Amino acid sequence: MSRESTGSPDDQNPLSNAAWEAAASAYAPSGFHVGAAVRTGSGAIYAGCNVENASYPVTLCAERNAIAAAIVAEGPAVAIEEIVVATPDSQNCAPCGMCRQALIEFGPAVRVQFLQNGRLVGTTIAELLPYAFTRADQP
Ligand SMILES: [Zn+2]
Repeated sequence: MSRESTGSPDDQNPLSNAAWEAAASAYAPSGFHVGAAVRTGSGAIYAGCNVENASYPVTLCAERNAIAAAIVAEGPAVAIEEIVVATPDSQNCAPCGMCRQALIEFGPAVRVQFLQNGRLVGTTIAELLPYAFTRADQP
């Protein structure tokens, strides 16, 4: 973990603010509202929230919804450079394994910030997903 900032919604970072705002839109009957915001190579920010479902495997994470919003806006060649994941409902919200795999598909050097013990901490996708399986590994 290389960087830290406050985990509060009034952080001056627009990417962080977008993640916090997205969490407020989450469909989360469980009570776990999560927001994520990605910054692409164009500098634009796209947000997503988690969308839960009574059938749990159908649930979509905020991170993958933010990635999808970026692809809708910029196309399949989108390059994701940074993501912030935030929640008002827990002290911790590291991206799940599925979202780590989704992130590395669109940015092998993505900088990742998420709440850990109530504070935003920063790392990289390479740290979060060592020995990743990528397109380069496909025959
Ligand atoms: Zn996830």
